[in-house]
Amino acid sequence: MPKKLLIIGSGPAGLTAAIYAARGGLEPIVISGALPGGQLMLTTEVENYPGFSEPILGPQLMDEMRKQAERLGTKFVDTDATSVDFSSMPFKVFVDQEAHTGDAVIIATGASAMWLGLESEQRLRGKGVSACATCDGFFFKDKEVEVIGGGDTAMEEALFLTKFATKVTVIHRRDELRASKILQARAFENPKINFLWNSIVEEILGKDKVEGIRITNVKTGETSTISCEGVFIAIGHNPNTEIFRGHVEVDEKGYAVRKNESRSNVEGVFVAGDVYDYVYRQAVTAAASGCKAALDAIKYLEFRP
Ligand code: NAP
Repeated sequence: MPKKLLIIGSGPAGLTAAIYAARGGLEPIVISGALPGGQLMLTTEVENYPGFSEPILGPQLMDEMRKQAERLGTKFVDTDATSVDFSSMPFKVFVDQEAHTGDAVIIATGASAMWLGLESEQRLRGKGVSACATCDGFFFKDKEVEVIGGGDTAMEEALFLTKFATKVTVIHRRDELRASKILQARAFENPKINFLWNSIVEEILGKDKVEGIRITNVKTGETSTISCEGVFIAIGHNPNTEIFRGHVEVDEKGYAVRKNESRSNVEGVFVAGDVYDYVYRQAVTAAASGCKAALDAIKYLEFRP
């Protein structure tokens, strides 16, 4: 009888895992979440996912991946997993009271970008507001952009954006960066990057596209407006691991901890994509890690009695 694999999450990591698992003779069931498809569902054009000579819309790319997984025999449960029990075999993933059982599990629930919580930020998402410079930086060629945040991500985003933008302003709420010294040094040395310290964003301005930003200096109370065409929010990500805490090991920020490539600390439970990877966070790297997790799960189940 084919072994059952439960995959939690339906972004590029979860769906690639499903494609490989189905072709590897398992019966994958994807608990895809109430909003299936992951972070790419919130993007517009994707032009860095290999295989598409013309840009493809994020939701369309995810739809194709899902159809591919379905054609190969994956079953989908389009609701959120609400709790798990990995303490005994078979593993259980609950959707409210209903238990789905599996001989192995892949956790691919991803991470969610943190947002400032402004109405204007949500309204202008995809219209100049982004949380991913690698995804959207290209659209800001010869434009002025702002990066919000003072950590490693903010510095990396700012440095990356200097390849396209004429000027990049980092707006940070304190007067000291949290980023590693090496990234700080690179950002300080870059002539295109300048810093606005002790400043918080009050509002992102513009009706249908970003036209500027209003900030307040928390030390002086002074409010000012800056013209710009792009705003990159880089204040961190939250890994979607709430339901796994106490069941698999996570680090102090909540990211899943890997023991060996895709293995978690629980034998038979694997992890893939942004749920552990806070460095690369790309659709293609998530897909690759989904492939690895599926291959590891297939191998694990082959040798399990
Ligand atoms: P982070 O280290 O948590 O930094 C978040 C930054 O955003 C902080 O400067 C914080 O300000 C600011 N911030 C948070 N909430 C805010 C709010 N509501 N309004 C304004 N500013 C806000 O997050 P991260 O930069 O994404 O990095 C996450 C982890 O990944 C870190 O461990 C980092 O080292 C790692 N990482 C590593 C690399 C690399 O090695 N190449 C690249 C990216 C990320 P405060 O400083 O005032 O708290």
